Amino acid sequence: MDFAFDARTEELRARLLAFMDEHVYPAEQIEHEQRAQLASPWDTPAIIEELKAEARKQGLWNLFLPDSEHGAGLTNLQYAPLAEITGRSPNLAPTALNCAAPDTGNMEVLAQFADDEQKKQWLEPLLAGEIRSAFAMTEPEVASSDATNIRTRIERDGDDYVINGRKWYISGAMNPNCRIFIVMGKTDPDGEDVRRQQSMILVPRDTPGVEVRRAMQVYGYEDHSHGGHAEVVFHDVRVPASNLIDEEGSGFAIAQARLGPGRIHHCMRLIGMAERAIELMCRRAVSREAFGKAIAQQGVVQNWIADARVTVEQLRLLVLKTAWLMDTVGNRGAHTEIQAIKIATPRAVVDILDKAVQVHGAGGVSQDFPLAELWAAARTLKLADGPDEVHQRSLARRELKRYV
Ligand SMILES: Cc1cc2nc3c(=O)[nH]c(=O)nc-3n(C[C@H](O)[C@H](O)[C@H](O)COP(=O)(O)OP(=O)(O)OC[C@H]3O[C@@H](n4cnc5c(N)ncnc54)[C@H](O)[C@@H]3O)c2cc1C
Repeated sequence: MDFAFDARTEELRARLLAFMDEHVYPAEQIEHEQRAQLASPWDTPAIIEELKAEARKQGLWNLFLPDSEHGAGLTNLQYAPLAEITGRSPNLAPTALNCAAPDTGNMEVLAQFADDEQKKQWLEPLLAGEIRSAFAMTEPEVASSDATNIRTRIERDGDDYVINGRKWYISGAMNPNCRIFIVMGKTDPDGEDVRRQQSMILVPRDTPGVEVRRAMQVYGYEDHSHGGHAEVVFHDVRVPASNLIDEEGSGFAIAQARLGPGRIHHCMRLIGMAERAIELMCRRAVSREAFGKAIAQQGVVQNWIADARVTVEQLRLLVLKTAWLMDTVGNRGAHTEIQAIKIATPRAVVDILDKAVQVHGAGGVSQDFPLAELWAAARTLKLADGPDEVHQRSLARRELKRYV
């Protein structure tokens, strides 16, 4: 078993680490300052476009997409350590490299399931980083972790489909440059097969009847750099029938295909967040004294640091194994491991961030350090892309099947 990264990964890692030092970390403060000056906090600060241009020039672009026709053609195992590095600055680096959710998942859906016309109209500008996109599945009225509950209707009317429904926590949708929504709804709500009732359809933001109603908060944060998480209402929204992705009834299967890679990308970035937390925790602990000695000399703090290091090493190995399985036996074959990392990573990283907050004292919960915001972001991943309990249930069922 070889634990070393291959030559291409090492070369990209070196370039990406240099890009982070030279461009991304210095831009974090600039982004805050520029956003405060914008007419609307949902607009894009100039520094983000500058970062994107620089990343593209350096060939650090669309690294997430394994398809070499549209993306960088990296395997999951090659991309994993790169995504981890971007997770150290999750508000800026993924966007700079055109590797940010939800666009990544949406581009994967379009690359895999869209027809040529849909690809030309939406995939090409997304790959070029000219527009942003959103994925609209979750609904406030129903338990949306069970996609069979979705109530939004997509009804055929002549050459059009008409969409009615209410969604929330639609990431990215507050950004006015989010031009396209992939909407999940039911075309056949009474169909016998509950997994064939759903379809996905492309809804341009400027279609009459689309109402981006409000920004939902995350523990009080509005997540401006992610384009927020909007409540969006569709009132008799009419789009051409050609906007349907794939065929009627394929929405459930597309959602499953979309979430596999998305889950591992989140976990890779979470490990990067944890690395940043450990670094901040150590720097703070060696630089402040309490009761006559450096905080770093307290045994309890050393235990937190040691435990955090052990946990990160364990998580990284499991994430890399999962990436390798996805490359070798496919997403379906890696199902158990994808669920295992999705359960293990947010939970552990939330705990590491919590300890880093503690070491920082009041500073830890303040706006002067990124820890509080990182904690909130990591905590949401125990819910988003499927709550832990749903993954635990399904993983346990597969495990139990071997004994009954
Ligand atoms: C920051 C953020 C960003 C998001 N971005 C998007 C987005 O871009 N697009 C989108 O469509 N959605 C998005 N979501 C929504 C997210 O995917 C949903 O919140 C998630 O799927 C859970 O659905 P729900 O909120 O309806 O919870 P529910 O389905 O109501 O579940 C609530 C709880 O019930 C329990 N539960 C449910 N099922 C089971 C089970 N089988 N066994 C045991 N317990 C169970 C779990 O504890 C679960 O957390 C986002 C959410 C957040 C917080």
